[in-house]
Amino acid sequence: MANNPIETFIENSLKNIEEDSRRTLQNNNKKLLNLSSNNYLGLANDKRLKQAGARALQKYGTSSSASRLIAGNIKIHEDLENALTEYFQSEACLLYNSGYQANLGIIPTLMDKNDEIICDRLCHASIIDGVLLSGAKFRRFPHFDYNILENILKKIPPQAKKLIITESIFSMNGDIADIPVLLELAIKYNCLLYIDEAHSLGVLGEKGKGLLEKFNIDPKNKNIIRLGTLGKAFASFGAFILGSKNLRELLINKSRSFIYSTAIPPSASAVSFAALKIIESEPSRRKKLWDSTFYFIQKLKESGFDTLRTQSPIIPILLKDNKTTMEFSRRLFKENIFIPGIRPPTVPSGQSRLRISLTSNISKDDIDTVIDKLVKIPLFPPLKKGD
Ligand SMILES: *Cc1c(COP(=O)(O)O)cnc(C)c1O
Repeated sequence: MANNPIETFIENSLKNIEEDSRRTLQNNNKKLLNLSSNNYLGLANDKRLKQAGARALQKYGTSSSASRLIAGNIKIHEDLENALTEYFQSEACLLYNSGYQANLGIIPTLMDKNDEIICDRLCHASIIDGVLLSGAKFRRFPHFDYNILENILKKIPPQAKKLIITESIFSMNGDIADIPVLLELAIKYNCLLYIDEAHSLGVLGEKGKGLLEKFNIDPKNKNIIRLGTLGKAFASFGAFILGSKNLRELLINKSRSFIYSTAIPPSASAVSFAALKIIESEPSRRKKLWDSTFYFIQKLKESGFDTLRTQSPIIPILLKDNKTTMEFSRRLFKENIFIPGIRPPTVPSGQSRLRISLTSNISKDDIDTVIDKLVKIPLFPPLKKGD
């Protein structure tokens, strides 16, 4: 049946994870070093988070049982929003059920078909989907090419409503957006700057306050909206948007993925709340993560690998060709190391790569082992930059 939508060829499959100590995962009785987790601060197995979740389960039950606007606005959700607002020095915060749903709900609330959205070419699929759903005119600039961004902005009529969207740490490259430059452009051309900080809130900056902390920018700047997820460094589930009180009110009233979906379980918010406390009180987790990050990047470079412009725990190893990439990934798998290969359409064609995402659970000894195995793969030496 040629028109059956289910009978298309599907290349990817789900991996069975039987046991997960977080440093390792077990797949078909094979124990693998896990270099592909977003559990950046190693909190997903933390006793205190588990206890906070268990207490909330006892106290509030298993579900929020309704949308926030109806009967699901359980106190713990607002407590978490207040704590996030305070920690990230914003004016207001609103929870979403996931980063994906947040992008899908927020972008179309802010922009419609009369408006203009300008986006870094490498932005995440959830951003693209949110933009498409908004119906706004959609333009993209080459990754980090802010001159082209400015040329685009110049050509848009000044009265048009405009939104610039970027990620903070880019999810496939690990490189970091130059927020001061973007903010200057946003102010000059009178538009909002939407920063998806999925990989940076909790992780980047001495206090984990993300890109604005790193660049010393006022978190209450009126041109900036920030998105964080609770599924990565926070080791929980959900997401949150940081911005003005007006923005929060607007989203509560207009954002469809907020309005028409059951609120996250109270236990998830309780876990996030406990995680925020640790993000605040245990900076050593971040320090360990960043020490390992720079150690790993340096070792890879010394071994001749092209790690693009990463400056973060997301470390690509560019191999360009699909087959080489998947073969590297398979050989590492045989050596009990899990680093997935990433191919188009997730990355542009000709830019297939291994993608490491490092957590504070991984030690320098682990990193030495990985480097040792990588350089012994017969496909080594890998292509040099510019080949
Ligand atoms: C992970 C991610 C999301 C989605 O967040 P979830 O909470 O996992 O749905 C959105 N944007 C970016 C850039 C991400 O990396």
